[in-house]
Amino acid sequence: MNCIELRNVVKKYGKVTALNNVSFTIECGEKVALLGPNGAGKSTTLKLIVGLLRPDNGEVLVKGLDPFSTKARGIIGYLPEDASPYLMLTVRENLEYIASLRGVNNVKDKVDKLLDFLALRQYEKNRVMSLSRGNRQKLALALALIHDPEILLLDEPLNYLDIPTQERVISLLNSMTNATMLVSTHIMSIARRLASKVIVLSNGQVVWQGNISDLKKFG
Ligand code: ADP
Ligand code: ADP
Repeated sequence: MNCIELRNVVKKYGKVTALNNVSFTIECGEKVALLGPNGAGKSTTLKLIVGLLRPDNGEVLVKGLDPFSTKARGIIGYLPEDASPYLMLTVRENLEYIASLRGVNNVKDKVDKLLDFLALRQYEKNRVMSLSRGNRQKLALALALIHDPEILLLDEPLNYLDIPTQERVISLLNSMTNATMLVSTHIMSIARRLASKVIVLSNGQVVWQGNISDLKKFG
């Protein structure tokens, strides 16, 4: 079944065309990297799928649904590029608050598990404003995962993380075998670790897509 579909999508910011006639399909369960340099249109693509932006032309579908529908939003977990958890709340309060908004059961168990897995337990009572960039990034990832989303949209998920933490996050994401994942990155080696397929964006257009093992020249 198609989980994510873009058909001839055009997105402009004023005079800047961020996406120019982008089409692709992602099947449920696939792990796909959205690869391209800065400004290629990766974040814009993810925002259209989350329903934070509307296309100027063309169509975006999430399991056949309009991304703006409540149902589509419920099945998506999104890590924004400029993730900003609530600064005045503690790490645990952020997780509990978002979990309650998303109707999560067994909140305490879920929160404990994510805190442990991401090595955030020692900061659980700290306010976000006191955290380092890397720990904020880990919290943002935990917030995207708290409701066990079927579809994960991750914008440069390893940003700001040190190497051991990157490895931890890679193994967490690799363990989510059932989820459909679309991960943006400008780094080929990260794409290889997280995805089996790749969509290469350049100047707002898809210039290559296929199995990552067939991708050679964009190293
Ligand atoms: P990427 O995530 O690949 O770096 P983006 O989707 O952020 O690319 O940006 C694609 C293009 O759209 C770039 O030229 C960028 O400068 C432009 N752009 C992105 N967001 C805005 C915005 N809010 N206003 C104006 N231009 C934007
Ligand atoms: P708004 O109506 O202001 O766009 P949203 O609820 O759509 O509010 O989004 C608020 C913020 O929550 C977004 O900027 C995004 O970072 C985050 N967000 C939205 N949808 C999801 C999701 N499914 N999973 C995780 N974070 C999300």
